[in-house]
Amino acid sequence: MSTFWASTRNMALIVQKYGGTSVGSIDHIRAVAEKIIQTREQGHEVVVVVSAMAGETDRLVQLAHALSRMPNPREFDVLLSTGEQVTIALLSLALLDRGCPARSYTGAQVHIRTDSAHNKARILGIVDSKIRMDLSMGKVVVVAGFQGTDEMGNITTLGRGGSDTTAVALAAALKADECQIYTDIDGVYTADPKVVADACRMSQVTIEEMLEMASNGAKVMQSRAVEFAGKYNVPVRVLSTFEEGAGTLITVDEQNMQHPVVSGVAFNRDEAKLVIQGVPDSPGVAASVLKPLSEAHIEVDMIVQTVAKEGTTDLAFNVHKRDFKLAFSILENISEDLGAQCIIKDEHVAKLSLVGVGMRSHAGIASQMFQTLGREGINIQLISTSEIKISVIIDEKCLELGVRALHDAFQLGTVEQETVESCSS
Ligand code: ADP
Ligand code: ASP
Ligand code: MG
Repeated sequence: MSTFWASTRNMALIVQKYGGTSVGSIDHIRAVAEKIIQTREQGHEVVVVVSAMAGETDRLVQLAHALSRMPNPREFDVLLSTGEQVTIALLSLALLDRGCPARSYTGAQVHIRTDSAHNKARILGIVDSKIRMDLSMGKVVVVAGFQGTDEMGNITTLGRGGSDTTAVALAAALKADECQIYTDIDGVYTADPKVVADACRMSQVTIEEMLEMASNGAKVMQSRAVEFAGKYNVPVRVLSTFEEGAGTLITVDEQNMQHPVVSGVAFNRDEAKLVIQGVPDSPGVAASVLKPLSEAHIEVDMIVQTVAKEGTTDLAFNVHKRDFKLAFSILENISEDLGAQCIIKDEHVAKLSLVGVGMRSHAGIASQMFQTLGREGINIQLISTSEIKISVIIDEKCLELGVRALHDAFQLGTVEQETVESCSS
């Protein structure tokens, strides 16, 4: 419940998003309806975004794959979007049953317009007039997360975890006072508490750090949602549906924050590595490899080109496991034209990342990270860095060992920081 809000503001427009576990059963949906009613009773206007019930999107994915090895992307989206449609109706029924005026809308009904990249579409715009009209009539507006429609009216979905992006985009369009992401954990932690027992909750995290954490696998928020929050200056708070607490504020305002050098460890198991070996070391070759991949909407990460030897070079990169087969077949198609010697593939890799804005002003973090992994016998296959992040690709079997070793080495579980509030153990 957003009691911290009530004490500081009179009336606010709040967008609340409830994830799959939060609406995973009829009892949970009833409890969510109570939370919404309480927020409304505090005098706030509420727009709610919901995910499909826990496990439902996975179930729909399996159904599609039972019929088709590579499901048609348009039809796949028509199928996947149904999960959220069930939840908006159930939640609205629960609210109405409690005497709370409510109205449900699919993404199409509130004109969440996206591009046509099925299964990972980007939101281009939202027409908010219907929502504003309902709010002015005192209704709670319940919107299906994760979906929109393209220019042609085709249903699109926003990629796994996409309801977070729906919520932040709606908050941006409506100029909401806060976007609250309710989930099964009470905030953003220094690492996934399911893997690191002594991970600590942060009371605040910067947008920049959250973006690096999310885009490197911390699925507590979809990375595009964080991008939106940064672009449109939306204050986002991650909260637990099941426990009281102030959660974690994701903020652009860094003024009153102390920055530990390293804030968190993120990881992603959904990685696959591809290396195209022995391509001619000549202008335009990297583009010839990457262009067909981007045309197929495949995101490529950690691109490494080796120093040329005898006129040829190797190009290594990783892609999401979901895109691996397609990426490999695209490389096979172009490799002969490029004169490449061979393609090496490895689906059993994972990405491990260290994130912290304090890295900007501290040297030696990379060497401490590599030494820590070396001591554990973990071999590094690819490295990439940004100002506030260092990522490595390693064997997926070593991932959990690596996550815990780095969390310990950088004392993320024990260090007393203003931004770290409570520990999960
Ligand atoms: P929802 O269904 O509510 O969208 P998700 O399963 O997508 O919830 O995201 C919440 C999960 O994110 C948590 O249960 C947790 O295991 C995982 N997670 C990964 N990294 C972090 C992190 N750094 N802090 C908090 N949770 C994390
Ligand atoms: N239901 C979708 C998923 O499971 C979207 C979401 O939950 O955010 O990925
Ligand atoms: Mg999620």
